Amino acid sequence: MSLQDFDRYPLTFGPSPVHELSRLTKHLGGASIWAKREDCNSGLAFGGNKTRKLEYLIPDALAQGADTLVSIGGIQSNHTRQVSAVAAKLGLKAVVVQEAWVNWPDSVNDRVGNIMLSRIMGADVRLSSDGFGIGFKSSWEQALADVESDGGKPYAIPAGASDHRLGGLGFANWAQEVQQQEDELGIFFDTVVICAVTGSTLAGAIAGFAAQDRPRRVIGIDASAKLEATREQVARIARNTAELIDLGRELCDDEITVLEGWAGDYYGIPVDSTNEAIYLTGRLEGVIIDPVYEGKSMAGLIDLVSSGDIPKDSNVLYAHLGGQPAINAYSAVYH
Ligand SMILES: *Cc1c(COP(=O)(O)O)cnc(C)c1O
Repeated sequence: MSLQDFDRYPLTFGPSPVHELSRLTKHLGGASIWAKREDCNSGLAFGGNKTRKLEYLIPDALAQGADTLVSIGGIQSNHTRQVSAVAAKLGLKAVVVQEAWVNWPDSVNDRVGNIMLSRIMGADVRLSSDGFGIGFKSSWEQALADVESDGGKPYAIPAGASDHRLGGLGFANWAQEVQQQEDELGIFFDTVVICAVTGSTLAGAIAGFAAQDRPRRVIGIDASAKLEATREQVARIARNTAELIDLGRELCDDEITVLEGWAGDYYGIPVDSTNEAIYLTGRLEGVIIDPVYEGKSMAGLIDLVSSGDIPKDSNVLYAHLGGQPAINAYSAVYH
């Protein structure tokens, strides 16, 4: 099956905007930097990268006759907010388990931003004291069992919609969309920078780009501070997705890149380079990025361009994957 053969339930506005970050480009002195904006890709609760992934999971959920989407994330999870929005839009229920992934003492951490939006949209929000981990969790299995014992039909969506057979398809489709937009703009992005934690965003993009004729450098930036787990998951999902869309060849190891150096010590805790990237992007471009994900991948992009690792004549596409609602829980840092 090729990508086109998979059912896709449209949840986005269509192709997400691509535009140049001209003042950031000038400030860094070369490599031309552009952004593709998943933070404004949908009218559903601010959208984001998970909304694209869900476009391919929802037809499966509907085909199974599910009435409740069950998912999991940290307290300020962007993913569970997007699951809650999609459930509301489709008239389904949502049960979302919010774990203590980040030891963040902000007094309103479990009240504002993403978790508040999920509550507004009617999700059954369940706080859990379990810590960070991208694998399967007992709290999540409990939530699934609860839905069943109440007579409902749950559809299980793992953290970040990643460790799911269809999890990579959304960003394989994104890679195709990039190619179409390049044709329209008359530009080729030789380098693409993508944040990685649960992995299917980067993995799907790697599989999607691998199907294209012209090779490019796809750079994953780890924001999990657990590099080996992220690399392993990205490689596995990239290979599964490549097989699913009939790439027709094995992915090589050097097509799968996840760099470390900008995650800091912990998932969800910004470090100096994160904050500098957030202020720089805000002040030069009026573009808001978050302290959990995009601040870290932008810090990576800035360093790779500044050091010349990404050469001055490159055209770089920065995937802005969303995530701004979480910034409300970080008022102690940005004031
Ligand atoms: C989930 C998320 C990511 C990471 O994507 P994965 O597919 O989990 O690797 C990056 N940025 C934002 C804003 C996210 O919500």
